[in-house]
Amino acid sequence: MSYHCPLCGKPTEYKEELHGLCEECYAKIHSSRITGEPRVSITVCNICGRIKFGNSWIRLSVENFKKILSSAVKKLKLFKKAKFEIVISDLSKDLLMQGIEEGELQIPIRLVSNDVPIKDINITTNFTRTICPLCMKKRTGSYFEYVIHVRFSRKKSKNCVTEVQRIIDNVLRFADPSTFVDVKKIAKGLDIRVSDRRTGRIIAQRIKMRFLAESYEYLERRYDATLKKLITIRKVTLEI
Ligand SMILES: [Zn+2]
Ligand SMILES: [Zn+2]
Repeated sequence: MSYHCPLCGKPTEYKEELHGLCEECYAKIHSSRITGEPRVSITVCNICGRIKFGNSWIRLSVENFKKILSSAVKKLKLFKKAKFEIVISDLSKDLLMQGIEEGELQIPIRLVSNDVPIKDINITTNFTRTICPLCMKKRTGSYFEYVIHVRFSRKKSKNCVTEVQRIIDNVLRFADPSTFVDVKKIAKGLDIRVSDRRTGRIIAQRIKMRFLAESYEYLERRYDATLKKLITIRKVTLEI
């Protein structure tokens, strides 16, 4: 004996989580509650582009942004009672950057419940610009724990800069999201300032290994007026 949807009468498979309804009826019932175009507001740091997530600030990437947007959407009153999965497929880094620049972005999302697509809607995302606490700190100059001076000849410059940046990007992928790395190109090479000692050490080691560089390490202690304490900065010079 075959089962029929109690609403439309269509033969369907009985699924308890869909309350016995067929997928179409299940989607129709859920989507009828969703009207209008919901808005969310996302805070972005003007300087580093990090996005605020709860009490922390995380690096801007499409993946991170999707996570934050989903969480913001789930908090909307409209969706409070219903449990949806939010699928965001159409979002590129370029589009995201453009939205942040313009202050607003329409993002198509798909609401899914129990594996049944319920509705496709547009989320209007407003971007609020501010300066994150980390950048604030950075501005005071009291932020860095590790400084790497990479030195190379002008001839090697192009290759070295690209390769060092690649190493940094790779290390940052696994670093704590609050880690800051500031790379400054100077005539004799690169000055890299890293917010935390551990990440700084890893970056220095990778560069050293990649280029078989000579290294000199020393400590610098200075009194930080803002933090009102003596801070230690580890400095490494790498000669390529
Ligand atoms: Zn039905
Ligand atoms: Zn920032």
